[in-house]
Amino acid sequence: MPASLSDLKSAFSKLGLSKHLVISHASLKAFDSIDADVMLNALLESTRGLIMPAFTYKTMLNPEAGPPNNGITYGSQADLNKMAEPFQLDMTVDKMMGVLPEVLRKYPKAKRSMHPIQSFTGINTDAILNTQSIHNPFAPIATLADQDGWVLLLGVNHTVNTSIHYAEKLAGRMQFIRWALTSEKVVECPGFPGDSEGFNSISPSIEKFTRRVEVGGALVQAIHLKSLINAVIQMIKENPFALLCTREDCERCNAVRFG
Ligand SMILES: [Zn+2]
Repeated sequence: MPASLSDLKSAFSKLGLSKHLVISHASLKAFDSIDADVMLNALLESTRGLIMPAFTYKTMLNPEAGPPNNGITYGSQADLNKMAEPFQLDMTVDKMMGVLPEVLRKYPKAKRSMHPIQSFTGINTDAILNTQSIHNPFAPIATLADQDGWVLLLGVNHTVNTSIHYAEKLAGRMQFIRWALTSEKVVECPGFPGDSEGFNSISPSIEKFTRRVEVGGALVQAIHLKSLINAVIQMIKENPFALLCTREDCERCNAVRFG
């Protein structure tokens, strides 16, 4: 049986987020045939406001040449470059982000930030979305952390936990440059993060700040954002290669290791 609105609200109430802003990541497939609107309504009624990553990778261009040690093979995606589309505020959210942010961004009250690759969408979070800039793509996460925000993982694990990327940056980890098409020009986008495949190794360090509940056949985890950020910084301080993945040909993890 799919979880109803009241099932979800009852489960979320146990996480104690009603007075907090939240960044959420979700896989609806992890839940028994749940409706996206039911999920979003439950989230909006259980929190003070919500943002989700609404990233758009089809704007990206891979140039023939660029700065060294950038976790990229230049000139390797000439075919993809031909299919690149200029960023528009109503551009569909990349499928990799799941269906929920795409449904959210179409809500009449929803706003979206302007970054051509790493935009966020949200409701009751306009001031947070407005902090983003081309030079500071993770500013909304910084602001959320300052405002005692929480991360909410709905049927997904830390490999999609974007806030860990922001913490990596604070820890001094290498960031990358990418390029995106807009209607006017090609825009250089600094502060592009590394790979997230190894992020689940943060779990033991944040057990104290993680609240869990099961609903509709899926696990929901809430993590206090500021505490998560501090735990990531501490982990990287102790081991500069923490949270990297084990794939031998991973360009961005290898750039961090050998760069
Ligand atoms: Zn990797």
